[in-house]
Amino acid sequence: MSYKFKRVLLKLSGEALAGEKGFGIDFNICKRIAKEIKELKDNGLEVGIVVGGGNIWRGRAGRGMDRTTADHMGMLATCINSLALQDSLEECGVITRVLSALEIKQIAEPYIRRKAVRHLEKGRAVIFSSGTGNPFFSTDTAAALRAAEIEAEVILLAKKVDGIYDKDPMKNYDAKKYDRLNYIDILNKNLQVMDSTATSLCMDNNIPIIVFNLDVEGNILKAVKGDEIGTFVNK
Ligand code: UDP
Repeated sequence: MSYKFKRVLLKLSGEALAGEKGFGIDFNICKRIAKEIKELKDNGLEVGIVVGGGNIWRGRAGRGMDRTTADHMGMLATCINSLALQDSLEECGVITRVLSALEIKQIAEPYIRRKAVRHLEKGRAVIFSSGTGNPFFSTDTAAALRAAEIEAEVILLAKKVDGIYDKDPMKNYDAKKYDRLNYIDILNKNLQVMDSTATSLCMDNNIPIIVFNLDVEGNILKAVKGDEIGTFVNK
């Protein structure tokens, strides 16, 4: 099988791990995602993963709270998700390291770029947890940042819809799907796919993004094989 990419960065939202419940972690979903990641590894791909935390806590939910504290809680939520995914990956035989942008060294290695790259080269999956380690950022931005740092060839942005639409397809039956888009279109049209900081970082560093539906089994592999699924974003 010939692949279009060698090193990829998979971005999973926290919601992706929650399944139908919409909150917390559904371990059946974790296992299914882990199996799909294993398929990538079995085919020789190097896989970095950034997991969100929205299934547990989002900083902006902390109304009336100090925003920085609320964001610290969000970053800790990403750690919980990262450990859950690590467990599912290791259960299906994928050696996995969690690297944290916040220091929690009893449970995860500190994030060091060269360490991350070494783990990838040795065939380990690497989960980047705690986002960027800074409040006022998102895990989409963390995905763009880590992708740039590890020189990933693409960001695989897993969603609950099958690509980018001109308006919310859940609410608008006439929403139109884009097969291809430029970063600048996302910014100009204010399309709700990634926040503007993350989109700009991808644009400035020329990192392509594939937005696809994670709920369809086998889609992660299809995305890296270069099958035309979802929406492809570049300059
Ligand atoms: N967060 C943060 N800095 C980061 C990444 C995340 O403060 O670099 C916090 C922020 O509060 C965010 C929460 O962690 O709301 C969970 O991340 P996100 O909302 O990106 O998760 P997702 O929507 O992907 O599940």
